[in-house]
Amino acid sequence: MTVKEPAAPESTFAATLAALRDALGDDAVRVGDAIGERPMTDWTRHGPTRPAALLLPRTTEQVARALMICNDARQPVVPQGGMTGLAGGSIPRAGDIALSLDRLAGVEEIDSAAATITLRAGTTLQTAQEAAAQAGFELALDLGARGSCQIGGNLATNAGGNRVIQSGTARDQVLGLEVVLANGAVLSSLNKMVKNNTGYDLKHWFIGSEGTLGVITRAVLKLQPQRASRHTALVALNGYEQAVALLRRLSTRFGNDIGAFEIMWPDFFDFGVKLTGTRSPFAEPHPLYALIEHASFDADDDGARFSNALTDALDESAIRDAVIAQSIADTRALWAIRECTAEFPVKLDPINFDVSLPIGEIGAFVDRCRVALDRAWPGNESYFFGHIGDSNLHVTVDGRSVPGVDHHDVYALVYDMLAPLRGSVSAEHGIGLLKREFLPVSRSAEELAAMRAIKHALDPNGILNPGKLF
Ligand SMILES: Cc1cc2nc3c(=O)[nH]c(=O)nc-3n(C[C@H](O)[C@H](O)[C@H](O)COP(=O)(O)OP(=O)(O)OC[C@H]3O[C@@H](n4cnc5c(N)ncnc54)[C@H](O)[C@@H]3O)c2cc1C
Repeated sequence: MTVKEPAAPESTFAATLAALRDALGDDAVRVGDAIGERPMTDWTRHGPTRPAALLLPRTTEQVARALMICNDARQPVVPQGGMTGLAGGSIPRAGDIALSLDRLAGVEEIDSAAATITLRAGTTLQTAQEAAAQAGFELALDLGARGSCQIGGNLATNAGGNRVIQSGTARDQVLGLEVVLANGAVLSSLNKMVKNNTGYDLKHWFIGSEGTLGVITRAVLKLQPQRASRHTALVALNGYEQAVALLRRLSTRFGNDIGAFEIMWPDFFDFGVKLTGTRSPFAEPHPLYALIEHASFDADDDGARFSNALTDALDESAIRDAVIAQSIADTRALWAIRECTAEFPVKLDPINFDVSLPIGEIGAFVDRCRVALDRAWPGNESYFFGHIGDSNLHVTVDGRSVPGVDHHDVYALVYDMLAPLRGSVSAEHGIGLLKREFLPVSRSAEELAAMRAIKHALDPNGILNPGKLF
């Protein structure tokens, strides 16, 4: 009997590449310089690494064949969407193969009766939003990265964004999902029905799983009726308690016509004004700012009711001041301040937090956090803001203002403060690479064991996005 020597890694990889080229075609398999810069890192700009190869499948079947080949070869694969992630989830390691969904893009169907849109995973969020609008609907999901992020990435991270207060997270928009498992099996459940209690609702395992359980290839999302009028205001407030009271007051008056309620502490607001090269619409500085959107189904709503509500609040000293955007240009200018975070990776060395904690506790947490940061690193430049209506606080510490300090120490300081509050270390960006070590702050040993069991059941060889999440 002859004993076959195990193949050398290079020849195994060469054989895997050859099989992939055979299955997908030469133009869908790139190596070396042909890979380009984009697949090397995400929006965090952390540890850019060239993957061993880049796959660009065009169909679900090609994704399935690629994964089957990689699974047989025990070849790690990192799924990649728009690369706008803020947790390092799509950053490859040197030996990984990157699987891009860029070419698996496009709107497949809009079903006006069911009010659904069926999308391929590589479709950008903005393309999906525009298609929905053209058909007279609205896709509720919205975030600053809309022009680049993809539906597959949005679902894999369970993205939040600006309208969660009104319509929920990405998860809440999904009716059906098609996913390719590590072994190439296709779970195609492009369900359009609202009610379907036929056993486990498998789609929820993949939403928010950050590419560790399967590759999302298509999705059926719910569409909402179009909100015919939108009005945006920037409100100046005394402090956090006043912000929460205003949110409750407006919710009582307008229900879920309040489409966004974004809070900016002065450090963030002043920095945003500077970055966008605009001017504060207020004559004097204030302790806190809220960017609020009122979105109504009534096409004749001229904003008077929203404006009156803010005038009443002003008369009763429930707010300090308010400006209401009078034009699309005004609206864009106000949102630009809030969305200046897109510039953070370029202008700062950002150490980002996207934590969740009960809404009533966020104000005190911010105060304590600031004191702790100042005590540990006097002179640090930190920015506090967030989607407060969804109990989501963002903090960005500029690494340049704490030279020589290990980012890990900054993470540890903030997460140690979060732990006793049973807060979440990720409200919306995911765990990815950057928060792995801190997952136990928010998850018990039993929960982690259940997650690992699911991972093992669906991806026993651990080829899908290894090193992420756990
Ligand atoms: C300016 C800016 C603003 C942002 N605002 C928000 C915000 O308000 N709310 C928010 O939640 N996020 C926000 N983000 C973060 C980011 O846009 C989201 O996490 C987005 O959902 C990522 O989508 P993507 O296509 O870029 O995914 P990528 O960055 O490419 O990947 C993210 C993760 O998903 C996995 N993945 C990607 N595609 C698939 C697929 N088809 N199947 C399986 N796994 C896949 C990857 O492996 C990785 O783990 C913002 C980012 C930027 C740059």
